Amino acid sequence: MPTSVVLFTADLRLHDHPPLRAALEGGHEVVPLFVRDSGIADPFRGAPNRLAFLDDCLRDLDAGLRRRGGRLVVRSGDVVEEVCKAVTEADADDVHMAADVSAYAHLRERRLRSALEAEGRRLHVHDTVTTAVAPGAVTPASSDHFAVFTPYYRQWSGRRLRDTLGAPRAVRVPAGVGSEELRSRSAAGVSPGLAEGGETLGRKRLAAWLRSGVAAYEDRHDDMAGDATSRLSPFLHFGTLSPVEVVHRVRRVGGPGAEAFVRQVAWRDFHRQVLAARTDAATADYRTKHDRWRSARTAREDVEAWRAGRTGYPVVDAAMRQLRHEGWMHNRARLLTASFLAKTLYVDWRIGARHFLDLLVDGDIANNQLNWQWVAGTGTDTRPNRVLNPLTQGKRHDPDGAYVRRWVPELADIEGGAVHEPWKLSGRDRSAAAGYPEPVVDLAEGLARFRRARGRE
Ligand code: FAD
Repeated sequence: MPTSVVLFTADLRLHDHPPLRAALEGGHEVVPLFVRDSGIADPFRGAPNRLAFLDDCLRDLDAGLRRRGGRLVVRSGDVVEEVCKAVTEADADDVHMAADVSAYAHLRERRLRSALEAEGRRLHVHDTVTTAVAPGAVTPASSDHFAVFTPYYRQWSGRRLRDTLGAPRAVRVPAGVGSEELRSRSAAGVSPGLAEGGETLGRKRLAAWLRSGVAAYEDRHDDMAGDATSRLSPFLHFGTLSPVEVVHRVRRVGGPGAEAFVRQVAWRDFHRQVLAARTDAATADYRTKHDRWRSARTAREDVEAWRAGRTGYPVVDAAMRQLRHEGWMHNRARLLTASFLAKTLYVDWRIGARHFLDLLVDGDIANNQLNWQWVAGTGTDTRPNRVLNPLTQGKRHDPDGAYVRRWVPELADIEGGAVHEPWKLSGRDRSAAAGYPEPVVDLAEGLARFRRARGRE
């Protein structure tokens, strides 16, 4: 019986899974393999929130395979060695896996291909598993990738997406291929409010979002207290949901909410096509001529205040505390906290990006690093000098202050929008907010420092 290994990476699902479908074609037996890869460097491997979510996803994937007569094979170690061992144990003909974009993913693919070819086996790498449109599928006339979102989106929108594939009815796994025990979710270092992972929950969340969330997305996505975004990001990050399927199903709902939402999913593909073409953008400024951030401040005390949610700017602090509590943050909150660190405090964006990656359950090398670069003005923003004012942002996107009160208990008794400027409080309100810190920086001074630094370039 012909046999294939399917290496699962950031695609931990059974629905709409081209590598699995291709492997099963012709009635093949399949080894569904996940490797806890010792080659993936911290902080991508060691973040407790993502590890806990990953354990949920693996258990759910195993349960889905068992319902179809199969099981998940889990190994730990060097990914190439473990795949080769599984190939030998199963006497498999070939290996199927999803394409991915980071420098590490490119290296993994090259190593795997040459190790397999040396044994007379083939590696099949499938596009549009972790993206809706493959990196490089749309390009401008003069470059291998788009550096600006709007023209990218125009072409992205015009592409016909492949059809969605259903989940397989049956998966037969050959005997004699050993697996580690699946782990239950570890609690060590995990945010208390962390969401649960897995394809089953991801599909339920998507269905609920299509029913009652997406229609209002255009109007409500920036309402920080309303929490009116999909929260699908961790499911997309771990690939328990397929971006192709998400786009098809959202488009079927239609309307301005659906359109605005699909545009955000296109941002995800946009950053991936940038990283695929410029893998060094994970750590180095994308616009090299502006590479002055190595000399930006490290400002230990300011960074600590930012990480702890004690900057004295309530909306910034609320967001940083939400991140610690949930391992997730609203997009508007990510924008304004990143701008505060990189521009108002003028700290190297890599320091902030690292903290996000330590905590975010959706922490993703393409989305995180390139969004940080976008905000810092070193990336693809066409207005790199804009600075988000945390007071204006707070008043606009949390006008009643409910988001701040939810996350900053020292300010829980301050009513209405006054919560955004605790230094203006007087009398009883002032004493109610007594435990809350003074601002770490004067906004006008921060802005002037950033502009001086820009002027020196
Ligand atoms: P929704 O608003 O419901 O959007 C739907 C989906 O579209 C998201 O799940 C996500 O996959 C995609 N998306 C939305 N906004 C963006 C965006 N700006 N860039 C790329 N994709 C987007 N997203 C991550 O998935 N991982 C990260 O590590 C990450 N780091 C970020 C760091 C900074 C500084 C900033 C400004 C943004 C970052 N984002 C990251 C993008 C965005 O904030 C999150 O995807 C979004 O908040 C997730 O919530 P949601 O699923 O409810 O989003």
